[in-house]
Amino acid sequence: MIDLSSKTALVTGSGRGIGKEIAAKLAAAGADVAISDIDLETARAAAAEIGQATGRKTIALAADVSKADDVKGMVKGVMDAFGKIDILINNAGITRDGLLMRMKEEDWDLVLSINLKSAFLCCRETVRPMMSARSGKIINIASVVGLMGNAGQANYSASKAGMIGLTKTLAREFASRSINVNAIAPGFIKTAMTDKLTDAEKEKLASGIPMAKLGNPEDVANAALFLASSLSDYITGQVITVDGGLVM
Ligand code: NAP
Repeated sequence: MIDLSSKTALVTGSGRGIGKEIAAKLAAAGADVAISDIDLETARAAAAEIGQATGRKTIALAADVSKADDVKGMVKGVMDAFGKIDILINNAGITRDGLLMRMKEEDWDLVLSINLKSAFLCCRETVRPMMSARSGKIINIASVVGLMGNAGQANYSASKAGMIGLTKTLAREFASRSINVNAIAPGFIKTAMTDKLTDAEKEKLASGIPMAKLGNPEDVANAALFLASSLSDYITGQVITVDGGLVM
């Protein structure tokens, strides 16, 4: 069994969806967890629910992770509450889909800021206490489309491919300090993000997946739990796909 007691974790965009499931998994394994979201009420509700279900200490923080000052405040909030950050999960992300010819510059900028710049800012802010502790686990939630592309998602695919490049670079920069940096590339997972798709679109997607179904947030959270634990101590700079075999 994975034991994260005495560990602390910060999960961005964890008021709902995959982030919330990851926060719940880490807390269930014994970690104290900071739930951060752009919306404070959503974060508070998730923190209360997870704290009650697991008995672990949870805190709620509001932060727009694409903004450097918000990220500074968020990390300070975690350090004030827990005194350290052992695990950082860069999960917050959005889509603004459209074919390239019609994609607005602001949709490109917004997606790159919230999905990719945020990971840079959160890593930069968190890595200092991790370096002092000479240990840490950073897990970036990328996407299979960062590996294989997807028509209509130039901004989103580029942001997720960028996240994978960031993961590999930081893995090299911090390996000697025993800080592991890995990415998870989920396939199509049932959350609000994929709820926007019609049933016909979901069926079409599922037909291209060897396992012939969409995944659940828990499937991604299980991989995050493994990467957050000492079981992954000799793994860094890797991308684990959680996608029912879509990319292989
Ligand atoms: P979701 O249900 O839409 O949840 C995303 C969370 O991020 C929401 O709580 C959202 O808050 C928050 N958020 C949005 N912008 C933010 C910002 N600027 N600062 C802080 N928090 C912000 O999405 P999900 O499906 O769980 O996705 C989670 C991650 O997995 C994303 O990085 C996504 O790209 C990735 N992913 C998802 C899938 C999938 O099929 N679902 C597949 C591959 C990768 P609000 O709701 O208040 O806006």
